[in-house]
Amino acid sequence: MLLLDLHPDAYPLEGYRRRQLLSWVFEHGVSKFSDMTNLPAKLRAELAETYSLDPFLSFETVESTDGSVKYLFTLPDLKQMEAVYMPYLDRKTICVSTMVGCPAKCAFCATGAMGFGRNLTAGEIVGQVLAVARHQAMSPREIRNLVFMGMGEPLLNYDNVMTASRILLHEHALGMSKRRVTLSTVGLPKKIRQLAKEDDLGLKLAISLHAPDEETRQRIIPTGHANSIAEIMAAAREYQSVTGRRVTFEYAMLRGVNDRLWQADLLADLLTGLVSHVNLIPMNPWNGSGFEESTEEQLQAFYDRLEERGVEVSVRRSRGRDAGAACGQLALNRPDASLIALL
Ligand code: SF4
Repeated sequence: MLLLDLHPDAYPLEGYRRRQLLSWVFEHGVSKFSDMTNLPAKLRAELAETYSLDPFLSFETVESTDGSVKYLFTLPDLKQMEAVYMPYLDRKTICVSTMVGCPAKCAFCATGAMGFGRNLTAGEIVGQVLAVARHQAMSPREIRNLVFMGMGEPLLNYDNVMTASRILLHEHALGMSKRRVTLSTVGLPKKIRQLAKEDDLGLKLAISLHAPDEETRQRIIPTGHANSIAEIMAAAREYQSVTGRRVTFEYAMLRGVNDRLWQADLLADLLTGLVSHVNLIPMNPWNGSGFEESTEEQLQAFYDRLEERGVEVSVRRSRGRDAGAACGQLALNRPDASLIALL
């Protein structure tokens, strides 16, 4: 059994022995019970017989010139998924996957083109943080920012993502601040409402809106037709009124598709009265996507229009483009991505 699938309160052992075990796993990031030197040898052997601490068979890395590192993990069933480590000057951030592939099929996204493989377990999600920290020779607790923005739609793997989030936030596990854990969703109103009720979590919510009008949005997110923009916005308002949290809207800028000024106006209309932030994301190109990134002039004009309309907006330039690690690029830079989707 993968020990990382368990909530820290359900860990084996009691009292200080349990805290020692948690400290080895989450502070020291060890992946073998034999390295837990302050536990009796017999106990270490018993734990090793019942549990494992490493959810991955192996991983490969691709480094970007900007310091980001993409990790390609191979799971025991030979499926693969990715995480991205982004060291900024003032903080260390990790973008984790919640699925192998993704059923949302966003048209600009390489992961969407892979199709859906399977959900990741809570331990496979948390394990990405531990493996990256080990490889970067740091304590897992040094990674203070986490975004659920890798492969997958987190709200479609709800229970495992909730368990993983509780492990991330638990004071005896990774001890992250809920202000620094962001869940990014394509916009599933029922699940957003359910998430609002997880009052011990209070995660930051980011909604990938990408278009303010139904026609354009369905072109970008073909599976989005099940939920209208009006329903998504109503759920976002409810999330805010229950949690008090600002809601972020992600908007990939696609040339001639969603970057026209009437769309900026429509977006500003949608956001009226909501405490929100819009991230404009220059699209990260990949062969076969069928989209181009907006010109700098159009990006600026769109930004200016939103700002004039009182919308809080910034441009988020993704890191790791040259390593295929940027938003929408995961699943790239390996020849067998389509095969992996079929495994
Ligand atoms: S952008 Fe996110 S939700 Fe859309 S297909 Fe890609 S991984 Fe899935």
